[in-house]
Amino acid sequence: AIELRRIEKSFGDTPVLRGVSLAIEDGQFVALLGASGCGKSTLLRIIAGLERQDAGEIHVAGRRIDDVRAAKRDIAMVFQSYALYPHMTVAQNIASPLRVRKLDVFQRLPVLGSLLPSTKGKLREIRREVQDVAASLKIGHLLDRRPDTLSGGQRQRVAIGRAVVRRPQIFLMDEPLSNLDYNLRAQMRNELVELHRRLSATIVYITHDQAEAMTMADKIAVMHAGEILQVGTPADIYANPASRAVAEFVGAPR
Ligand code: ATP
Ligand code: MG
Repeated sequence: AIELRRIEKSFGDTPVLRGVSLAIEDGQFVALLGASGCGKSTLLRIIAGLERQDAGEIHVAGRRIDDVRAAKRDIAMVFQSYALYPHMTVAQNIASPLRVRKLDVFQRLPVLGSLLPSTKGKLREIRREVQDVAASLKIGHLLDRRPDTLSGGQRQRVAIGRAVVRRPQIFLMDEPLSNLDYNLRAQMRNELVELHRRLSATIVYITHDQAEAMTMADKIAVMHAGEILQVGTPADIYANPASRAVAEFVGAPR
């Protein structure tokens, strides 16, 4: 479970998060829904450890993680802009979080014979893992390609693969589908819901698309101007919006 307690953050004199509290149960798919600039990405970056809050606490699995470095948190992040390594192949990108010290597994594979047996076994295991993850995301045939030769949808699959390969308990996704065209977005929505089921992980998913939140999420947290206005199931929020702002945002009659 993730518990956010009164998280506050300002940039300069501008308050961006004004005491955000939110409880997310294990295995839930939670959509963070809100207009541009309301603080969604900032909140996600704070949970991931990429940014530090000014006040408030983050607890994961009952433990306070504020002082745990990003790389040490059991959390993987997927960005709207993919953020792939341009000089690496698809396989290397996916394997990058698993890197055994400085050893680049996919570059060293041709000389596998010269490695110590223990390392060799480990590399085989990693290679198989990367192939499995890529296949499950339908990019198994693209392992040797570089990101600049891929379509947007393929790039996002690589970015998701790079997150999945760590087998984290928690995925944070910041509008991962918003750069994709309409049809692909609809298809990827289904695949992400499917992925969520398969991994039984917790997903916190940022979107400003009401339909996306309504169709994908177990729970929606509606954000506005640095605050969470309401948290509930899609049906709840649609049927009983707590305020006019929420109603307008989820397109509910009120
Ligand atoms: P969008 O839907 O457009 O991605 P968002 O809800 O993710 O919006 P944030 O990126 O969290 O919004 O930004 C919230 C506010 O904080 C914005 O006004 C933004 O300009 C400001 N902000 C974010 N990061 C910084 C920064 N590093 N320095 C200064 N201001 C920032
Ligand atoms: Mg954002």
